[in-house]
Amino acid sequence: MSAPDRTIWEVILMERGRQERLRASGKFRFTIADTRISHERRLTILLEEVGEVAKILNESDATGRPTYTLELTSELVQVAACAVGWLEALGTMRDG
Ligand SMILES: [Mg+2]
Repeated sequence: MSAPDRTIWEVILMERGRQERLRASGKFRFTIADTRISHERRLTILLEEVGEVAKILNESDATGRPTYTLELTSELVQVAACAVGWLEALGTMRDG
């Protein structure tokens, strides 16, 4: 197995960028980093992504199919990127 091309942090930041590009394109009205939304709204966004991780595991368990690492990785990256976006909204740490 070869080494991944990117670090975990690079992939998470790429996902954060993707989230903002989707908002800019009009797919979403806001992202988790939008300072105009409530913490409760942010929590629902984060939990939706956590739920998608649970769905993968639940379906794998129910059907006996293997848990696909790439699918799980993608959803976990989305969870992490949402947490990063929430931290951005708090503004308590410097970006970068
Ligand atoms: Mg997802």
